Amino acid sequence: MEQAVPSSPLEQVRARIASAAKIAGRKAADVTLVAVSKTKPAEAILDLIAQGQRVFGENRVQETQDKWPAIRAAHPDVQLHLVGQLQSNKAEDAVMLFDCIHSLDRASLVTALAAAQDKLHKRVPCFVQVNIGGEDQKGGCAVAALPALLAEARAKGIEVIGLMCVPPVGIEPAPFFALLDKLADDNGLAGLSMGMSDDLETAVQLGASHVRVGSALFGSR
Ligand SMILES: *Cc1c(COP(=O)(O)O)cnc(C)c1O
Repeated sequence: MEQAVPSSPLEQVRARIASAAKIAGRKAADVTLVAVSKTKPAEAILDLIAQGQRVFGENRVQETQDKWPAIRAAHPDVQLHLVGQLQSNKAEDAVMLFDCIHSLDRASLVTALAAAQDKLHKRVPCFVQVNIGGEDQKGGCAVAALPALLAEARAKGIEVIGLMCVPPVGIEPAPFFALLDKLADDNGLAGLSMGMSDDLETAVQLGASHVRVGSALFGSR
């Protein structure tokens, strides 16, 4: 039977994930689509919720505090992930606001998050962000520092579920995704948060468990 042409951006992104998963012999259901709604208004988020999207990502604590309490109250089944860099002094806010953190990247943040978790009696699963291209200005822990950071996080009771990366801009991302996959394997981690609007197919083919997609869903920022 002919497949209907996907119409909405959400349907298009889902179709892209599905076809990449199929090529790789994976199930599309094993890839979580995180809809990154940073800078976008509540109406755009509510519109995606109405279409069935349930997992969203934001990159700033303050913006999340402004935008999300009302949406959360109306849609308690929606999950919210932090995909941006986190300052240690915002760790408590982050533990309160988010269901998952993708940007754990240094020992001082491990300490702050562990203290916040203990104080609030809430555990938030985390991805450790790796500076996979070894770029000077980029967030993420150095590849060489990863084993020690993971040991520290585990010792302090943080539930690390996987690794996250944002590869360098403007060059083929596949080698970086493959390296992240190997690092996760080496460290006994199943989760891989990788792939954005422009490269999600490559990420899904190389094992992404979570793709973080903004502009392909919401338009350019
Ligand atoms: C903004 C952002 C995304 C989404 O990027 P798009 O190219 O708009 O899909 C993904 N991950 C992180 C960490 C981001 O900050």
